[in-house]
Amino acid sequence: MDFEDTPEEAEYRAHVRALLEEHSAELVHMDTGEEGAAEGPEQELALRRTQRVLAEAGLVGVAWAREHGGRAGTLAQQSIVHQELARARVPGLINHIGLGMCAPTVIAHGTPAQHEKYLQRLLRADDVWCQLFSEPASGSDLAALRTTAVREGDGWVVNGQKVWTTLAHVADFGILLTRTDPAKPKHAGLTMFVVDMHAPGVEVRPLKQMGGQSNFNEVFFTDVHIPDTERLGEPGEGWRVALTTLLNERVAVGGGGTDLGLSVESLARLAAERVPGLSPERQVLARQALGRAAVAALANRYTGYRRYTAISQGGLPGPEASAGKLAGTASAKLIADLGVRLQGDDAVFLSGADDRWQRTMATLPGLAIAGGTDEVLRNIVGERVLGLPPEPREDKHRPFNEKAAAGPGTGRAAEPANTARTDAPGAMA
Ligand SMILES: Cc1cc2nc3c(=O)[nH]c(=O)nc-3n(C[C@H](O)[C@H](O)[C@H](O)COP(=O)(O)OP(=O)(O)OC[C@H]3O[C@@H](n4cnc5c(N)ncnc54)[C@H](O)[C@@H]3O)c2cc1C
Repeated sequence: MDFEDTPEEAEYRAHVRALLEEHSAELVHMDTGEEGAAEGPEQELALRRTQRVLAEAGLVGVAWAREHGGRAGTLAQQSIVHQELARARVPGLINHIGLGMCAPTVIAHGTPAQHEKYLQRLLRADDVWCQLFSEPASGSDLAALRTTAVREGDGWVVNGQKVWTTLAHVADFGILLTRTDPAKPKHAGLTMFVVDMHAPGVEVRPLKQMGGQSNFNEVFFTDVHIPDTERLGEPGEGWRVALTTLLNERVAVGGGGTDLGLSVESLARLAAERVPGLSPERQVLARQALGRAAVAALANRYTGYRRYTAISQGGLPGPEASAGKLAGTASAKLIADLGVRLQGDDAVFLSGADDRWQRTMATLPGLAIAGGTDEVLRNIVGERVLGLPPEPREDKHRPFNEKAAAGPGTGRAAEPANTARTDAPGAMA
């Protein structure tokens, strides 16, 4: 494992830093490094503009092929851009779902006409994208989804509901996983589409999160017509297409050893201010908690380096992506928790830049669920890294409509969820 930049990487890093400085005035900057949240039309416009400026400077889609509007760079270069954006406190790009999950899926499974129509606009955030997979009764057990697409004329008619759809409230397009053949086993009867989020029959209802934001949504589909030209992959091949998305999701959500908004160094600075005012007994406890947070942050950083090494050697990380996401959320929880406790009663009153500990505390539970829950990730590590016996997957070969006929929710406890995200083989390649 080599933690240092190669001379070429160091040169590229300097180039990226110079570009970010040159364009600094045109970019949005944030205190917390949280994802581009698009809270309100003004912020949405500013975040779209930020991505466009970065795209025009050649800093978006760095590893994409030139024919798709990219720079034909390496994944290591793309990783350097992410690190330098975080360092410059530029928030996550508004189209992070599009770039991280939708575009790789369109590139791998789309037609040349779809590439032409979508990719350049996605890079520049002219169109924002979302991922329409999870439903009220299928998150970890994604292949159990119930939204249907039925063939009609030159297209398909979609009915059903998705939930937890990040950015649907600002999205122009989404990748939509549907059930097209309920008589087949659950993984075999699925088909993927690109859906126009402004089409008649698409209704987006934002959900309010406990951190105060509204980043994700319920999305309802009522008789939505999708032309067959917007199908991604063959009918019934949706699961194979979705695996491309899920593999990229694990990599995109993992954080890659970054501090997910709060660094242990800033915690140490807060501790230096606050700990001397505590009683001797509490000082001991605070020092121990700081030590635990520092160890977790280092574990996260080094897991990130493993991932980075896998990337710089030309591959997509496998188990490092799941372990990396677990390490990232675990260390961020310890850091944010101690930050809030060190503030004591002040934690209730602080706002603006000073409430970043509290805000991070409020967003972390969601982060520990998105893109695979902690439990599902531990299952993956158990099964695919440690070689432990797999969970029973009793419904895997049964026609989906036999299971569905038993009614929603039945058998879930007796039949452990056939975790789609666990089933993503590429994630553990
Ligand atoms: C912030 C955020 C953003 C999201 N954005 C999107 C998005 O853009 N698009 C999208 O499609 N989805 C999105 N999601 C949904 C996310 O993928 C699901 O919430 C996640 O996969 C878990 O599914 P679920 O909520 O249905 O929980 P369930 O799968 O019902 O899980 C409930 C509980 O059971 C546990 N559990 C489930 N199966 C197992 C098992 N086999 N073994 C042990 N424990 C198990 C889980 O760990 C969890 O604690 C987002 C979620 C969050 C929180």
